[in-house]
Amino acid sequence: MKLPKDVRIVEVGPRDGFQSIKEWIPTELKLQIIDGLIKSNFKKIEITSFVHPKAIPQMKDAKEIVQTLLQKYDDKNVIFNALVPNLFGAKAAYELGIREVTYVISASKAHNRANVKRTPRESFDGLKELKDTYPDLKINLAIATVFGCPYEGDIAIEQVKWMIEQGLHVGVDNFTLADTIGVANPRQMSVVLKELKKDFKDIDFALHLHDTRGMGLANVLSALQCGVRTFESALGGLGGCPFAPGAAGNIASEDLVNMLENMDIKTGVKLDKLLNTVKIVKEKIKPILTSHMAYVDSCSTGEKG
Ligand code: ZN
Repeated sequence: MKLPKDVRIVEVGPRDGFQSIKEWIPTELKLQIIDGLIKSNFKKIEITSFVHPKAIPQMKDAKEIVQTLLQKYDDKNVIFNALVPNLFGAKAAYELGIREVTYVISASKAHNRANVKRTPRESFDGLKELKDTYPDLKINLAIATVFGCPYEGDIAIEQVKWMIEQGLHVGVDNFTLADTIGVANPRQMSVVLKELKKDFKDIDFALHLHDTRGMGLANVLSALQCGVRTFESALGGLGGCPFAPGAAGNIASEDLVNMLENMDIKTGVKLDKLLNTVKIVKEKIKPILTSHMAYVDSCSTGEKG
């Protein structure tokens, strides 16, 4: 098995996870959980999104979250990333001091319309505008529904390649491939990644995986062997997509860390501190968690007390 020595895990729970929870999570509690993630040693955290509060009310405290965190952690030891759907959102994020954003375009036309009410072409025009307006803003282009769409089914690999080319054309060089509804299987993962690597061998693709059908970690293993080194996950396995019917949680960060560390692949994340943070989510938000490690009792993990 060809495996790396270390990988990078980007924690997206405070954005992808919280946005899927209907009941309001108090800003203080969000900040407490993000503090726990920082103590767990994540080096990059997607902390919120600058979407219209009517579209996703849970994210209406984006400004306060960013201001508090940037004031508290100005040592640049951790990157705070925010999702922005358009120039308006990017402007708000940039003015608060955010220098890295995620911009999502769906490979599926129908999903892109449901998500941002634009065609992929219009979304790329928006991306160009964003890049031209804020040249020093690092943009991660997340391509949604790469492995399947709730509206359109299979996605042609040519469509994914076209999107990567469009991204490169406007000067983006960070790409995340997303399995938005968790339909990818490990064989498909390998076929798609190898196909993309043929045309784009210098791109260090990141993966954003959902575990809707229980294939999340198997897909990680497949991707590791194809050279992927960056994975996005959410504590507790929180998540879903409000505009993708049937989407369930992201792969759980603690399950991912546990698997990788047991395989002797370094993540840098402190599992005990992460599990303590998951416990806060479990007790105070009480969502349905798809995580396994969240339910392993402390005796079998060897923890004391
Ligand atoms: Zn997601």
